[in-house]
Formats: sequence, structure tokens, C-alpha cells
Amino acid sequence: MMSQTIEKVLQGQRALVTGGSSGIGAAIAYAMAMAGAKVAINYLSDSSAAQNLVNKIKGAGGEALAIQADISQEQAVENMFQSVIQTWDSLDILVANAGIQQDAAFTEMTLEQWNKVLAVNLTGQFLCAREAVREFLRRGVVPELSCTAGKIICMSSVHDVIPWAGHVNYAASKGGLLMFMKSLAQEVAHQKIRVNGISPGAIRTPINRTAWETPEAEAELLKLIPYQRVGDPMDIGRAAVWLASDASDYITGTTLYVDGGMTLYPGFREGG
Ligand code: NAD
Repeated sequence: MMSQTIEKVLQGQRALVTGGSSGIGAAIAYAMAMAGAKVAINYLSDSSAAQNLVNKIKGAGGEALAIQADISQEQAVENMFQSVIQTWDSLDILVANAGIQQDAAFTEMTLEQWNKVLAVNLTGQFLCAREAVREFLRRGVVPELSCTAGKIICMSSVHDVIPWAGHVNYAASKGGLLMFMKSLAQEVAHQKIRVNGISPGAIRTPINRTAWETPEAEAELLKLIPYQRVGDPMDIGRAAVWLASDASDYITGTTLYVDGGMTLYPGFREGG
């Protein structure tokens, strides 16, 4: 991870990051902790990775806990929120980050692959956001902490606008998430809750290892990235801190594309 000093713009706030034990979620959890938030790191199965991150955050002077839950399961999500809220009295920030890919050519795609990706990437966001909004409304605004009652960041993808052959389940889940995020933002804005999306381009994490792990694969990938580097998880970590802080207070229902220009149709630089 790139190291850079992060201002304490989330001091005293409590954040939950789903899928927080690896990749982008781990960078966001670390960045938010360095910005002064207490961070609950949700994980599905890798308890040692989650615990290592808790230890790293504590070692750097922050506060964190690890919490297991399958975010596609209603009861598990409710239990997780209850547990975090009991521990820290409330919650101020949800980063709904957990997501999966199960790729297949369209005619080979099984119903199970379709349902699984939708269950995690879309239904999981619904279940987590619903618990977060319930808590934000119960507690209301605490001016000493933030001028909002709460913030939700939905981790989407450039594939909420760029079609992706061979990945129709994933692209459909992220495209659905775009309107989920906007509709929820519209519904709760008057209650001082902000809901935004982050759409990463290609970030160096386990989910897309094959796209960058060999020099040949990386060279192919760079053709799609005008800024000419693969993203670092901390590129997303820093964006998430800002989007959760009062520095972005007038922003709701918006997607921040953190993609080195991937959504700029790079093929048109010379073609078209
Ligand atoms: P990753 O595989 O490291 O992270 C995904 C995390 O979600 C993992 O920790 C995984 O255990 C967790 N998870 C999966 N199913 C879960 C479940 N049912 N319950 C709880 N946790 C679950 O990959 P990443 O790149 O860090 O992905 C994070 C998010 O960023 C995903 O939503 C992904 O779609 C999105 N994204 C990533 C990229 C990229 O280039 N890496 C680009 C665009 C969007």
C-alpha cells in the first residue's frame, strides 16, 4: 500500500467495511482508521487476514475489530450490525465493499453463478444499507462528530457503465447498484444521510489477479488506462475517506470514478 499522511477527518466516527480483510476493503479500513475512525472489518472466511489488519491498525495507534458475516444472509447482517452498534454505541459510516466475480461465457453461465453474484453484489448491499439507515435514523445527527446522520459508500465498478462481455452477471449487479445507490440517496437525503458510490477501474487486488500478474497481461491492461498505471488499493482508500468526511458534505447520489481514465473510452484517442 502507498503510504501518505491522512488527516484525522473522521475522528471519533465508527465505520463498518464489508469484505474488509483483503484488497480494496482492507485499504479503506486502514485509511479510515488512520483518519481517526473506529473500524469494524467484516470478513467472510479469512479470520487471520482480518485479525492481522486489526493488529496493524492497532499498532499504528488506531482502533479496529474483526467481525465475521456472510453479507448476503439477512440474519447474519442483522447480527453483525447489532454487535458493532452494541460495542461502539452506534455507527456513522458504512462502506458496502464486499463483492465477487463468477465469470462465464453467456451460454455457459449457470443460474447458480448468476444468483450468487447478484446475492453478494446487490442483495448484500441492500441488506447492509438497510441496517445502516435504520441506525442512522435512530440516532440522528451528532454535530460534534459529523454534520450528517450517516454516510454510505457503495463499492461499484467502472462496469456500472462499461459493458463487460463474459461477465454479464457482474456488470448487471454493478449497473443495478448504480440505481440502487441513486434511489436510496434520493429517499434519505432529507434525513441528512448521504449515499454515494465509488467505481474503481483496475486496482491491483486478488479479484483481478490474472489481469495484472504477468508483464504481458499488465501491458494489455494498460491499453485501457489512459493514466498508464494499474490502481493501488490506497487510491480507493483515500477517496473513501474523503467521501465519508464532512469535506464532501454537499455530495450525495454521485459516483466517483477512481479509474485512471478507464471510463474515457481510450480507444477513441487514436481511433474514432
Ligand atoms: P477482493 O476479492 O480482495 O475483495 C472482495 C472481498 O469481499 C473479499 O474480502 C471477500 O472475502 C469478500 N466477500 C465476498 N463474498 C462475501 C460475502 N458473502 N460476505 C462477506 N464478504 C464477502 O477484491 P477487491 O478488488 O478488493 O474487491 C472489492 C470490491 O471492489 C468488490 O465489490 C469489487 O467488485 C470492487 N471492484 C474491484 C476492482 C478491482 O480492480 N480490484 C474494480 C472495480 C470494482
